[in-house]
Formats: sequence, structure tokens, C-alpha cells
Amino acid sequence: MVVPFFTARRRKRLLDQPLAATGEAALQQHVALYRRLPSACKDKLRDIARVLVAEKNWEGCGPMQGKLTDDMKLVIAAQAGVLLLGLGLDPLRDDLYPNLDTVLVYPSAFTSTAPRSVATIGNLPVMSEGFANLGEAWNQGSGGGPVILSWADALRGSLDIAGGHNVVLHEFAHKLDMLDGSVNGTPLLDSREQVDQWKNVLTGSYIQLSRSAALGLPTVLDPYGATNPGEFFAVATEAFFQRPSELRAADSPLYDTLKGYFKQDPAAWEPV
Ligand SMILES: [Zn+2]
Repeated sequence: MVVPFFTARRRKRLLDQPLAATGEAALQQHVALYRRLPSACKDKLRDIARVLVAEKNWEGCGPMQGKLTDDMKLVIAAQAGVLLLGLGLDPLRDDLYPNLDTVLVYPSAFTSTAPRSVATIGNLPVMSEGFANLGEAWNQGSGGGPVILSWADALRGSLDIAGGHNVVLHEFAHKLDMLDGSVNGTPLLDSREQVDQWKNVLTGSYIQLSRSAALGLPTVLDPYGATNPGEFFAVATEAFFQRPSELRAADSPLYDTLKGYFKQDPAAWEPV
């Protein structure tokens, strides 16, 4: 979806200005995936991140109220932007995460406020009240609802690429999944054939993960992905970008199917 003319003009003015030195330093120091990218992708990611920072409503929550800086927003937005890099979106004119209106950021793990009745109509992860939570993606209302994040965990996943966990990639994968209105682990795909391949491959990998998780076997994918197909896509997305070579070695059909959707090959970014 293309943004209105005035929005495109505002974006051009924004992106014509160089990014502040502190912003570039924040990306270099705190976003491991950014450092890995080829330079042309880096430029595009920087633009996507700046647009997300400028256009979404960002709020620091609890002790983070009034303390969420633009550089912190940029670190989160750059990770979210990695998922969009190959999807053919132009940061100057395309709507980026049109189903996201707000990013709420807590300093660390927070208590979910999602009542069960809301959580069960499609908000993932489904958490009961009182559960210490690292992230949530809501699928609600005309604006699409917020992503809610723990800053400590967003930063940890951003720095520790080999650890495989990345709450920002996870929650924004849910947002991509939600674009077609349902949270079922199948995002918008290009063709009927791609949908068939997706269902075949991901169903097989999901069943395999469920079996391994039940047996307590080690897996590249976080066993949390065995919760349901929506969580499986989010967890597979984390591994695809954070531990691509390991995922490709463990489950090449899954890697290739995700590569077909994201139109990116993160294993090629890894240092040899
Ligand atoms: Zn989730």
C-alpha cells in the first residue's frame, strides 16, 4: 500500500537529512544484524528504521516513561526493518507495518495486561495475566494494535546474535503474520503454489519440533515454537535471521521456504 503524497514528501525531507552520528553509532554498536549486512542493504535498513521511528507512536512504559530515546527506538526499528528488507517495499512511498500503530517499551520483563478474552481471538503469545512477559504483538482495532517489548530483552537479542533469541524479530514476525487478518503462521504469500509449499514444509517442521520438544531433544528452533503454528513462524523467523547456517543445516526445506518468503539469504551474511 502506497502512503499519501504528503507522507511521502515528509519522508523524503527526513531521509534527505543524514542520520545523527549517535543514531549511526547506536546501529553499529547495538544491532548485530546491521553490522552483518551488505552496504546497500544497510542503507535501506537505515531508511526503513528512521521511517518507523518517525511515524509510529512510541511510548516508554512504567519506569521507561519519558526515557525512551530516539536511538533506542532506532535499535528496535532496525531489527523490525530487517524482516522487510527483501519484501519489495520502498521506504519513501510504501506503508511499513500498516497494522502497527504503537510500540510500547518497558525497561524489562513486564506483566501482561492482555485479558484472556482478547488473547484468545488471535493475540500471540497467549499469556494469562500475571505472566512476566518479554514481548507481545496485538491484532486489534483499526490501527492494528501495538507491539509491546521489554527493552532489556530487545537489546539482549540484538547484541547476542548467536543466542538465537530475538524478541523484536519474534513480535514483528507476528505482525507480518497478522497482515492477512489471521494469526496462523502463514503470512501473505505470492501464489497458490507458494502457499501449498509453505503449508507442506512448515507443517512437517512444526510436527518435527513438537516431537523433539516432547522428547527434550536439542533443536535449533526454540521449543516454544511447538506451541502453535503462529508461534512456530515467529520462532523460525528468529532462527532464520539469527542462526541461518545452523537452521539451513538442520532443516534446509524450512530455510529455503523462509528464504522464498523473505527474499533474503541471511546465511550469506554470516562471517566465514
Ligand atoms: Zn509469540
